[in-house]
Formats: sequence, C-alpha cells, structure tokens
Amino acid sequence: MHGLSTRASLAVHRVEHLGGSFYLHPGATERALQRYREFLRPPGRRPLYPRESSCDCTWCSFDDVRHARDVLEEVLERLPERARGELARLVRRLDTEFLRRTLQDPFAHRRRWRIRFWWYRRLADRPGWGDAPDGRSRRRLRPKVIRAAPSAVRPVRPTGTGVV
Ligand SMILES: [Zn+2]
Repeated sequence: MHGLSTRASLAVHRVEHLGGSFYLHPGATERALQRYREFLRPPGRRPLYPRESSCDCTWCSFDDVRHARDVLEEVLERLPERARGELARLVRRLDTEFLRRTLQDPFAHRRRWRIRFWWYRRLADRPGWGDAPDGRSRRRLRPKVIRAAPSAVRPVRPTGTGVV
C-alpha cells in the first residue's frame, strides 16, 4: 500500500479480510485514503464542505469523505501497534489538512448522530441533513438502518381483510 511498509500493508490486509463491520472490506483502507486525499486536493484557501453520499452502499458511501475517515478509524482501532503507528502518521497529516480546509459547525452540539467523531463536527454542505430532530433528517437517516437488515424491518403488508 502506498505510503506504508510491506509489513503494515499486510496487517491492514488482514484486518480488512477479517471484516466484521460495514466499514471493512478488502481494499477499503486504500480507497479511504484515496478519497481523503481527493477531497483535500482542490488548491487554494476556499473552505471545503463534506457532503453526504446519495447512496448508502459500501461503494457510494465513500462519496462522503467522513465515511472514508470512519473507515480509517475502524482500521486504526484494529491494527496491531506498529502498523497502527504507520497508518496513523498518514492519517494525521490528512486530518491536519482537513481541519485547516473545513470550518467548525456552530450547531454541531445539536447533533445526535455520530457526534463522537470530530470530523462530523465540521460544517457540511447541507448542515441541516441528519442534524435537527425534524422529519426530513430522520427520513434521510432511515435507509441506513433498513439496509442493514432488510427483511427484519420491512413490515408485512396484509393481503386482504379477514382472509387467511
Ligand atoms: Zn450505491
């Protein structure tokens, strides 16, 4: 992997193949790093705004740079110490740039969703989405939950009245 030693790359590989979460799959770390770099690429001093992805599948989720950061966090948590140190150095550099290029979200304290991660406290393209306790944002969040367990959540529609 670009920027990592062979040993650390193998460790990343192992974590990805073990899976066990929505964020982890083979190639996810590389993809996340690429996406993070790509987000920060536009030159100049104009602020950048993370934006929600329009689709929540494993692939499209990366449209949201914050998802890329989630993936990196998940991998970092699972890596053995030395490999973690290597990847952490790469990520830290990007984090610094991310903090420099994004703005603080003044309403971040109102968020209930994933507030534990600081990258969700930066001003997003549509700051209203997923924030306020209004119907619209809730509707927006629902597909994520449903997709995790499709058959369990979908209600069974009755086929007729009184007919069995
Ligand atoms: Zn998709």
